[in-house]
Amino acid sequence: MAFVFPPLPKPALPVTGSDDLYPVGRIFCVGRNYVAHATEMGNEVDREAPFYFTKSCHHLAQSGLTCAYPPGTHDYHHEIEFVVALGADLFRADAAATMAAVYGYGVGLDMTRRDLQAQAKETRRPWDISKDIEAGAVIGALTPRARFGEIAGQKIALTVNGTLRQEAVLTDMVWPVDRLLEHLSCLYHLRAGDIVMMGTPAGVASVQAGDVLEGVVEGLAPVSLTLGPAE
Ligand code: MN
Repeated sequence: MAFVFPPLPKPALPVTGSDDLYPVGRIFCVGRNYVAHATEMGNEVDREAPFYFTKSCHHLAQSGLTCAYPPGTHDYHHEIEFVVALGADLFRADAAATMAAVYGYGVGLDMTRRDLQAQAKETRRPWDISKDIEAGAVIGALTPRARFGEIAGQKIALTVNGTLRQEAVLTDMVWPVDRLLEHLSCLYHLRAGDIVMMGTPAGVASVQAGDVLEGVVEGLAPVSLTLGPAE
């Protein structure tokens, strides 16, 4: 038996200091994980439970590319995020057991059609078209967990054309990685290749064609995106 057309290539990310590739499965994204960002969006953080949306792994874009300004929006926003990449299965895991399943970390951009997201909130419709955007999950090379060390007060920041737009420290996350993975593992059979984008700090704003976005987390490979003209 043959495929009726060639299947899409398996999305993957480079690994720092290695020629290896990390094959990407599902992309989970956490909403409202920094208090100051929830506030700027007019929301409060839900401390009872985190919430999620997802992005197709086929919407992954490698760092360093120029990607077209997407159709259907006039308010395309940047969100810099800490990215967690799993290297083993997790199901109904206790927080203390989750970190051993983390393969490594990266820096990502959760690109967002903010105007469509606002409409979705108003009309109580899903977020898919505002979040699950072609080339809308830009992620830099992964760094293995042991090389990064403990998650502590590392700085996370984003510049646009060299101007600082977002800045925080990883300890500002309301849901730390271990507790987040505990919660998510009670909803899914998490497995190697699954990625979690951990939410964005305050300072989200719109970008334009020609803008150069550069995101960093101390100790990780940076992520960059250049926006091309609309198609
Ligand atoms: Mn986000």
